[in-house]
Amino acid sequence: MTEIGPWISPGPEPDPMRRRGNDPGRPGPGSRGGDGFRGGPNRPGGRGGVGAVTIILLAALISIAAVLFFIRSRPAIWPPQNWIFAVCDVGQGDALALAVGPGEAVVVDTGPDPAKADHCLTLLGVRKVPLLILTHFHADHVDGVPGVLKGRVVTEIETTDDPDPPRGVSEVTAWADAAHVATSMAAAGEHRQFGPVSWDVLWPDPSVSPPIPPEPGGKSRRRGRRQARASPKGRGEEGSGPNNSSVVLQVTVATRDGPVRLLLTGDIEPPSQAAILAAHPDLAADVLKVPHHGSAHQDPDLFAAVHPRVAVISVGKGNTYGHPAPRTIALASGAEARVFRTDEDGQVVVFGTAGRLQVAMRR
Ligand SMILES: [Zn+2]
Repeated sequence: MTEIGPWISPGPEPDPMRRRGNDPGRPGPGSRGGDGFRGGPNRPGGRGGVGAVTIILLAALISIAAVLFFIRSRPAIWPPQNWIFAVCDVGQGDALALAVGPGEAVVVDTGPDPAKADHCLTLLGVRKVPLLILTHFHADHVDGVPGVLKGRVVTEIETTDDPDPPRGVSEVTAWADAAHVATSMAAAGEHRQFGPVSWDVLWPDPSVSPPIPPEPGGKSRRRGRRQARASPKGRGEEGSGPNNSSVVLQVTVATRDGPVRLLLTGDIEPPSQAAILAAHPDLAADVLKVPHHGSAHQDPDLFAAVHPRVAVISVGKGNTYGHPAPRTIALASGAEARVFRTDEDGQVVVFGTAGRLQVAMRR
C-alpha cells in the first residue's frame, strides 16, 4: 500500500506537520489547526489513570519526533533528497520544476517575477535547464523568464502554439534570442524524456475542438479552438483564449519502487479540460497541478479522472481574482487529494518514491 506524508514544513512557523484535506480524523480543507501526528483517532481525551499518562508520554515523544523532522528539514538541506517536483512560491502565477538530474531541472513556466523564479531555482540548486516549457504567454507564466536564464545553462524553450497575447510572445522571443536559446512549439502527441522524467504532451491539440459549455437555455455546441481563443478577455491578462491553449503535460517519473505520475495543466478552463478528458480518458495521476490557480471554473470530471493524492494550487496571497475558489479546493479535496497552496505553504516540493510520496513546504 502506498503512503503519503509526512508533510514537512521547514519554514519559520512551528507547524511542521500540518495536514489538510478530507482524510478521516484530520482537519478539512483550509484548516490551519491540523497535526498529522497528534490528530486522528488516537487523540488523547476523556481517559484517566495509567492510560492517560502513557498517552501523554507518547504524545511528548511524538512531539519530539515532529521537532526532529522540523530540524532535519531546515533550509540548509533544502531541497529534500530525491525531490521530484517543485512548485515555486512566485506570487500570482506558475513556476514549476521537475528534477531530471543533479543540479538539473525541466522548468514549466516562470511566474511573473524574475527575482522570485531565480530565487526558487537557486534554492533547488538548479544550474542547468535542458528545457523550459511555457504553457502560454500570459505574464504570470512568462515574465519570470529572465530569472530562469540568469546564470543558468538553458538549452531550449518550448511554448504553446497560440501566439497570444502578442506582448508575451515578443518578450519571450527577445529573451530567447538574446540568450541564444532555441525555441520550439509543443503539440499533442509529443513524447520527451530527460533522465527519470518522461512526458506526453496532451494539449494543445489542433485536431480537437473543445466543447463549449451550453449557454443558459441553449444546446451544447462545439467550435474550433481559434474561435475559443477569441472569447472575451477577462481582467488584465486573464483571457480565456490563451488559458485554453495551455500546454498540458502527463508526466511519469521513474522512482525506485515505481512510477510517480503528475498532470501539469497550465491555466486550462472547462472547455479544454473536457476536450482533454474526452481524448485521454486515463488521466490518473498522483500529483495534480490544479488548473488556473484554483479558479472557480473547473470541470469536476477532470478532478474525478485524475483522482490525485496531492493537489497543488499555485496562487498569490491577496490576489484580485478570488483564487483559489473555495469550491475548487473542495473539489480537489473531494477527489481525496491533500491540497497545498503556495500562498499559505510557500514553495511546495514533492519528494520520495511512488511507495512513499512525501511533501515538503518552505516559506
Ligand atoms: Zn495564470
